[in-house]
Amino acid sequence: MNTTLRSATGFDLTPPTAAEHADLARALTREEAEVLLHHGTEAPFCGGLLDNKENGVYACRLCGLPLFHARTKFESGTGWPSFFEPFDPDHVVGITDRSYGMVRTETRCARCDSHQGHVFPDGPPPSHLRYCINSVSLQFVMNGEPLPDPLGRGDRLE
Ligand SMILES: [Zn+2]
Repeated sequence: MNTTLRSATGFDLTPPTAAEHADLARALTREEAEVLLHHGTEAPFCGGLLDNKENGVYACRLCGLPLFHARTKFESGTGWPSFFEPFDPDHVVGITDRSYGMVRTETRCARCDSHQGHVFPDGPPPSHLRYCINSVSLQFVMNGEPLPDPLGRGDRLE
């Protein structure tokens, strides 16, 4: 029986083992760890990927899973990289977040469970969604470059 958990786009979504997760977490900077592991938020207009307009994909900083296509990035004016839809709906999970007296939907990487940002219902058509993501939660992969594959899953873009 094949129990591998695969997304519609063919990625292995099996979570990292505790040991793998600890290895990945050790490689993070303090700021990355604060956001990815402890639900922090980077300061607006400071993230390294805010103004990036290159073609490619944005992958999870921790595990390398592709989370957003560059072609879905838009200028929201909020100071954080914003996207109107995920790379694959299976790759980004939404979790109700009641912190700070607000009800928001937190978004996490579906594979490693790292915090990415939030999704709001005020984005542009066709989805009308706005995925508001921390730059430090992402790593940009230019078209034609290999995906990061720190878990050795053989991750590859079509
Ligand atoms: Zn991840």
